[in-house]
Amino acid sequence: MTRITVAKGDGIGPEIMDATLEILKAAGAKIEIDEIEVGEKVYLSGNTSGISKDSWDTIRKNKIFLKAPITTPQGGGYKSLNVTTRKFLGLYANVRPCMSLSPFVKTKHPKMDIVIIRENEEDLYGGIEHQQTDEVVQCLKLISRPGCEKIIRYAFEYAKVYGRKKVTCFTKDNIMKQTDGLFHKVFDEIALEYPEIESEHWIIDIGSAKMADTPEVFDVIVTLNLYGDVISDIAAQIAGSVGLAGSANIGEECAMFEAIHGSAPRRAGQNMANPSGLLEGAVMMLNHIGQTDVAEKVQNAWLKTIEDGIHTYDIYKEDVSKEKVGTKEFAQAIIKNLGQKPTILKDVHYAKDAVLNLPKYKKKPAAQKDLVGVDLFVHWNGTNPNELAEKLQTINTENKHLTMITNRGIKVWPNGFEETFCTDHWRCRFEPQEGKTLYKNNIITLLAKALDAKIDVVKTENLYNFDGKASFSLGQGQ
Ligand code: NAD
Repeated sequence: MTRITVAKGDGIGPEIMDATLEILKAAGAKIEIDEIEVGEKVYLSGNTSGISKDSWDTIRKNKIFLKAPITTPQGGGYKSLNVTTRKFLGLYANVRPCMSLSPFVKTKHPKMDIVIIRENEEDLYGGIEHQQTDEVVQCLKLISRPGCEKIIRYAFEYAKVYGRKKVTCFTKDNIMKQTDGLFHKVFDEIALEYPEIESEHWIIDIGSAKMADTPEVFDVIVTLNLYGDVISDIAAQIAGSVGLAGSANIGEECAMFEAIHGSAPRRAGQNMANPSGLLEGAVMMLNHIGQTDVAEKVQNAWLKTIEDGIHTYDIYKEDVSKEKVGTKEFAQAIIKNLGQKPTILKDVHYAKDAVLNLPKYKKKPAAQKDLVGVDLFVHWNGTNPNELAEKLQTINTENKHLTMITNRGIKVWPNGFEETFCTDHWRCRFEPQEGKTLYKNNIITLLAKALDAKIDVVKTENLYNFDGKASFSLGQGQ
């Protein structure tokens, strides 16, 4: 018996949750339920996080959370409960299977069957943003080795346990050589541990285009947070089944399972909503807690019901559907089909020991780290970089010498182009001259000199070699 936390949510949430739980019960799921209240009522009671402390305690105690969609009230500083839950509980993997159910659900891609595994905690989603000058704001993209290792290992383990043949990595490492470069590098390292699974890398732009055009060439796709956010919605949409897709958010301790759609308030209370998305989330939950036999039974009964043409309004089509049913009737049809398998759609078979082997991250030995320069980011309203260079050269010394100025990453000094558009945000690189060494306290004196020379430094970034390798970007055009 596994104790799980359930939140019935808002809008159509309670109806689809009741239907889902009834199916799980009929299928023999060995679960006990603690129900908590999250969402609209909690938000409107003045709690801007949408969840109470007691509810957090229940979620953390049970570790498994099945959540119906909730309504986030408009305006008023309400925080997204989904984002908060992912971050607080360290749910690093977002898993979203996107499979077409052709010919029973209309799709342009009848053979599509992919799983998107999205890193869920890092990347630009750290929300570390600053305005630095009148014209420039920045958002920090942070990528960590443990973050990459955990998500990429998860993708390969998932492929192994669920009999998938290939894992594809999507990055933009031709441009972001450090951040996306690390993700790609770790992918190549971990792929070696899974020789039985094919591995490949695509640049995200052409990879996504290929996915939208010919999704059947992909199997499991693993990618960074932002790219995963975008492509997982595209994948669900082109599979023809946004209302039918579930998703899992997996952490080392806790996990949350849900439908990908929202609370559809206009359909609430009318016994119309399709419970399939949440049911798919629940099937992933059963697999996660080791009740693979029940998961298999529910999934095959669901596929059979879709195949029988028993459809809710959202997927009902005169030419393929046989009967238009409500939420409750759809659930009853699935219950009747428990123990049966689809004949045209492919039935599922989940291995009995479908447990992912996910060892804890082991810290690597520290690298040799040498300070080799510093970038001063300067707020300056002039337009001619040569003038700024002259000003900066007055604070040059032997061990910190101006070597380059870039504007939005493009080298504008020395030997810039007049045509390059410049804004008021300048990266000014100082490096020691041949044979000299830069120490951290030299940076402090550099900053003091800049202050005296009325140079407005808005941030500094140290330049390091790790194990002798330059670990910072060059100026574009350098
Ligand atoms: P939505 O997914 O609720 O609805 C989009 C469309 O799909 C609507 O036409 C709706 O009728 C239909 N639809 C969605 N699910 C359906 C189902 N199971 N059966 C039949 N039809 C279904 O998206 P929205 O309208 O943009 O958002 C409504 C609310 O949901 C908002 O408050 C939003 O913040 C919230 N939301 C919550 C979650 C979540 O809790 N995970 C996710 C997305 C949106």
